[in-house]
Amino acid sequence: PKGIALLRNPDFNKGTAFTEEEKDALGIRGLVPPRVHTIQEQIRRVLENLRRKPNNLEKYIFLTGLQDRNKTLFYRVLLDNIEELLPIVYTPTVGQACQEYGHIFRRPRGIYISPHDRGRVVKVLRNWPHKNVRIIVVTDGERILGLGDLGADGMGIPVGKLALYTACAGIHHSQSLPVALDVGTDNEALRDDPLYIGVRRPRLRGPEYDALVEEFVMAVQHVFPGALIQFEDFANRNAFRLLQRYRNRVCCFNDDIQGTAAVALAGLYGALRLTGGRLQDQRILFMGAGEAGLGAGELVVSAMTAEGLDPQEARSRCWFMDSKGLIVQARDDLNEHKRVFAHPHPFVADLASAVETLRPTALIGVSGVAGLFNEGVLRTMARINDRPIVFALSNPTSNAECTAREAYEATDGRVIFASGSPFEPFTYKGRTVRTGQGNNIYIFPGVGLGVIASGARHVTDEMFFVAAKSLAQMVLPEDLQEGMIFPRLTRIREVSLKIAQAVAYVAYRSALATVDPPEDLEAYIQSLAYVPEYESYV
Ligand code: NAP
Ligand code: MN
Repeated sequence: PKGIALLRNPDFNKGTAFTEEEKDALGIRGLVPPRVHTIQEQIRRVLENLRRKPNNLEKYIFLTGLQDRNKTLFYRVLLDNIEELLPIVYTPTVGQACQEYGHIFRRPRGIYISPHDRGRVVKVLRNWPHKNVRIIVVTDGERILGLGDLGADGMGIPVGKLALYTACAGIHHSQSLPVALDVGTDNEALRDDPLYIGVRRPRLRGPEYDALVEEFVMAVQHVFPGALIQFEDFANRNAFRLLQRYRNRVCCFNDDIQGTAAVALAGLYGALRLTGGRLQDQRILFMGAGEAGLGAGELVVSAMTAEGLDPQEARSRCWFMDSKGLIVQARDDLNEHKRVFAHPHPFVADLASAVETLRPTALIGVSGVAGLFNEGVLRTMARINDRPIVFALSNPTSNAECTAREAYEATDGRVIFASGSPFEPFTYKGRTVRTGQGNNIYIFPGVGLGVIASGARHVTDEMFFVAAKSLAQMVLPEDLQEGMIFPRLTRIREVSLKIAQAVAYVAYRSALATVDPPEDLEAYIQSLAYVPEYESYV
């Protein structure tokens, strides 16, 4: 593009940073102000404007606007200020943005596929302007964070995740595609909202739903062959089924099941560096037996088994509670995924009693329900353990099982804590406490990059296992000292590249790669990572 069209194209626009030579060559002299700014000066302007906004939703809207105007600047600002901006483009604010998506809507983003598109999904995908798509994040909006069914408004999640793929792992934005499978919503308030952007009908279910998903997955193979499909925020009833159906047929994974599992396992490894314990000696109680919990349980079992424990023995170290209570053998209301973790033990209805009788070393919240880790529960954990491990992984912040401060106060500061959404650093007994964010943000960008780099045909559980191990290895002693069992987010690029390398290595070793093995894997992956900097157009 040239002239005014160039200025209006966010892929190419540089705002006030076009050089004198570019102004002449591109026919934009006079169309931009005379002064030529550096990207650093532009970042300063962005941050000034951003910090003036009265609340996080306004900041989100502002950043979305920047993404619409100038992608290089957007990704640069995001990457250079990730700790400040992550809570805006991702949890918790992205949750609020989804809840109000139709109301704050400016420009469309990604691809919407609705039941109306049956028989022509290939055509719809071909409308996407970029032809080299390598990664797709898709949601049907039924379980957005812990916020439930948000229908087509859930599009904010794939959009946010893919922005992070670019910022955190350097996957070029033209290679990514957010997709909302708009199959309707059972959220009546949303359906009745005149500004709702989705199809106003109850959710498509059963064979028709499956047929639409099938058509979508096959259309991707046709239009963007081999692209990685990340299933995101599907409800439990579909998440496990779809993963099962597609994991050995196409290149895909489910972030809520597999990505979360890896970050939970990495968190446990990090915690054990503080306690000095071994994974196989832990007794872990998961509060919540859904995608996140059961995915984590399975990965922990693999990890314990890799350490030499018998698989049955490993399973017996993992306990689960769901909305009805402790998962035990006597229950007859368990699905197959829960059943494998049902141990011979009397039924226990509430968490406080379960903690009392099972005496877990680690308590992991993946229930989506705020406040379940109340003072009593936390105190019991502190009585049983020198250093109780407590992860409140439910998102957004308003759904966390407890806050960081609550965990510290109820355990006399002995807790090893992480949460799915970030908590601000705070002062406890005169020292600054900075707790880690146990979120799959640490995992999926690196896994995606590793899969793309190797051209892996499938995504395996082993890839998530090595991702978890790589992540845990990157925690520094000074992080641990402050209470952080994950690396600082400022190192996210480094983290993602390490994970990508480990994942690609697994792809090569498992004969899943389709890209010829490079001589130097690390250098090769590094060379793939997009760095948001202005290119010269002359
Ligand atoms: P899910 O598949 O719907 O599972 C939720 C589980 O919680 C179910 O087993 C449910 O019980 C159980 N539950 C609900 N209320 C409960 C209660 N009062 N007491 C005990 N258990 C209860 O959802 P999910 O995908 O696992 O997600 C759960 C949460 O994890 C969400 O808030 C999500 O945001 C969060 N998450 C965090 C990350 C991260 O990176 N930190 C990643 C993914 C998900 P039933 O089985 O009886 O219904
Ligand atoms: Mn998710």
